[in-house]
Amino acid sequence: MKFHPSEELLVGYASGDLNPALTVVVGTHIDMCPRCRSVAEDIQNHMATRELHQSAPLAEPDLNSMLEHIMASESPIVRSAKVHEQVSLEGKVFKVPRSLGRHVDRLGPWSHMPGGLWRAPLELDADSRMNLIYMQENASLPEHTHRGSEATLVLNGVFNDEHDEYRDGDFIFLDEHKHHSPQTTDEDCLTLAYLDAPLQFTSGLARLLNPFSSLFFR
Ligand SMILES: [Zn+2]
Repeated sequence: MKFHPSEELLVGYASGDLNPALTVVVGTHIDMCPRCRSVAEDIQNHMATRELHQSAPLAEPDLNSMLEHIMASESPIVRSAKVHEQVSLEGKVFKVPRSLGRHVDRLGPWSHMPGGLWRAPLELDADSRMNLIYMQENASLPEHTHRGSEATLVLNGVFNDEHDEYRDGDFIFLDEHKHHSPQTTDEDCLTLAYLDAPLQFTSGLARLLNPFSSLFFR
């Protein structure tokens, strides 16, 4: 694992400030990454300590309710009762970490797209745009940029773009200025992808595929 969420995102996660979709993407990385888990715990401990100190001048700080408040703010998402351990597609079964597993109930149907891709939407609330994206061997997603940012987490397998190669647990965050063309070679890849604005395809014929972006963005 080479790529991790920025410290800013980890702070946002630990303080419950990320939107529901990013909370799931960052939380799923943390499930897979002992290093970021320990950083997030440090941040949470630090915030809890600071909150206690700031409240110290009060006559009788109600420690229990403060702690409850901190714990409750961990995630703004209503959790469903069942935590799934896997998702399946075309007869293949993929294990999923807990942070994602508790939302698998909301996973929509898989749709098959050109280029060896499958996509299933994960709707957490009206504003989130998140998909599981499966790329079979030798698949490619046309070069694109985004009007907002894109966070991609590799759940299983390997893909690459013109910048690097990404494997299980790698977290890639791209802002609107970054272009990339994800592809797979001889291994397939399952990713969790979050977009905060539609994809814009930038290269040659792929421009004709721009309606395709609405498949990802919804
Ligand atoms: Zn990490």
